[in-house]
Amino acid sequence: MKIKLWKKIKIIWLKSLAPGWSTCGHCDIPWKFVKRHETKCAKNLWCFPLCEKCWSELTIIQRLPHYQELMGRWGDSGVKYGPAVTRSVLNGG
Ligand SMILES: [Zn+2]
Repeated sequence: MKIKLWKKIKIIWLKSLAPGWSTCGHCDIPWKFVKRHETKCAKNLWCFPLCEKCWSELTIIQRLPHYQELMGRWGDSGVKYGPAVTRSVLNGG
């Protein structure tokens, strides 16, 4: 419990240092401080709902909802690229 609280405080602090930056979908740390894991959606198009650390710690099945959530936010583009992204994720991309 204590660790969780410190983690939350750390995230709030990091977010305050990176106003306007979006964050990793799992650990919620801004992209300014974590390396994003890029997954190919299409030719010349990559998406990155997760940082390298979270990506490497999660199983493929655990990663998938983060990609689906991102595709949901992409609207029509998400519908268009969703199947290719799901294929990439299932292939370990
Ligand atoms: Zn992360």
